[in-house]
Amino acid sequence: MLDYLIVGSGLYGSVFANEAAKKGKKVKVIEKRDHVAGNIYTKETAGINVHQYGAHIFHTSDRAVWEYIQQFAEFNRYTNAPIANFHGEIYNLPFNMNTFNKLWGVITPDEAKQKIEEQRAVLNGKTPGNLEEQAISLVGTDIYEKLIKSYTEKQWGRACQELPAFIIKRLPVRFTYDNNYFNDIYQGIPIGGYTQIVEKLLDHPNIEVELNVDFFENRSHYEAIAEKIVYTGMIDQFFDYEYGVLEYRSLRFETEILNQENFQGNAVVNYTDGETPYTRIIEHKHFEFGTQEKTVITKEYSKEWQKGDEPYYPVNDQKNSDLYRKYFKLAQTEKNVIFGGRLGLYQYFDMHQVIKAALHAAKKELKD
Ligand SMILES: Cc1cc2nc3c(=O)[nH]c(=O)nc-3n(C[C@H](O)[C@H](O)[C@H](O)COP(=O)(O)OP(=O)(O)OC[C@H]3O[C@@H](n4cnc5c(N)ncnc54)[C@H](O)[C@@H]3O)c2cc1C
Repeated sequence: MLDYLIVGSGLYGSVFANEAAKKGKKVKVIEKRDHVAGNIYTKETAGINVHQYGAHIFHTSDRAVWEYIQQFAEFNRYTNAPIANFHGEIYNLPFNMNTFNKLWGVITPDEAKQKIEEQRAVLNGKTPGNLEEQAISLVGTDIYEKLIKSYTEKQWGRACQELPAFIIKRLPVRFTYDNNYFNDIYQGIPIGGYTQIVEKLLDHPNIEVELNVDFFENRSHYEAIAEKIVYTGMIDQFFDYEYGVLEYRSLRFETEILNQENFQGNAVVNYTDGETPYTRIIEHKHFEFGTQEKTVITKEYSKEWQKGDEPYYPVNDQKNSDLYRKYFKLAQTEKNVIFGGRLGLYQYFDMHQVIKAALHAAKKELKD
């Protein structure tokens, strides 16, 4: 009999597995994909670590989490500073004094604030009732038209006027010449990629890992072999979609190896016009300051999620939040199952949050 069966070898499941194994517990991790690491999986292609499920930049202000993750990899000094390409015009992100200067020629923060204030006037003091109005109230019409409108519509597959305002309750706007996307104290990319982190977490004599197996294909067997289950798959699937299906946004990636050294000069370029079908291009080598002769790029397309697609972003609107609450109540009645991670809790989590949550759950669970 195992102490824990862990469904999913992503960051949550692997951190929990490692903590349990260190306490002498017998653990088995099952994973339906043919590799460990979940969505942080990176794979070497043409000597470059490719982020297979979307660009991942580690950032946190939590010193304990930062110290924890560094046991498993050395981190470089990468700072996320994406740029936007609008019909060939390049703007710095997040919206900051460099963006405002390029757009309007303004030099000081006061001039930039005044410009935004003037553009906000089109709303006539109206409380924003949709995403378009919310964006204009935060950054004015020019930034909305060039950098937000079409990008957001591509992401959500719907017009900004039909999207709820809460999606962009806050926008990263900065009145300094600082292109660093994140406000966190610590930031970087693991040299050599993310997969090594999970491989090291799972490399323990008390942990057995089985790939290419789906919990639901042999559910009764897996439920019988362990005292407890840590479940990091989709919560609605665990309950056989009893109340209905939780919705996600999905992504499609097109990756190419190019016979050139440097394609776009930056790891992340967002395409904010409506004509380009993809939302962004990732050039992976720049995450690790690569000097290889070739380069690998990935075009990222946003798409509607359908059952069977990879679920990426939960849709936290009223309908889905209400549905999730019902599943959450059911989950509380499962005394031998711990639900965790982004799919188990139907919530977008950054990596540092997942680590913190898994460490917290393990501490609570393994206290004696
Ligand atoms: C496009 C994108 C970009 C991101 N960028 C960043 C970033 O820059 N910085 C950051 O901090 N975070 C980022 N994140 C968030 C990060 O990916 C998550 O925090 C992290 O991967 C969550 O880990 P997890 O273990 O909860 O889930 P996952 O990584 O999804 O792991 C769950 C695992 O469970 C497996 N599984 C599911 N169901 C079953 C089943 N029935 N049987 C067996 N196995 C199963 C899945 O195959 C998967 O491997 C990003 C996320 C996305 C989608």
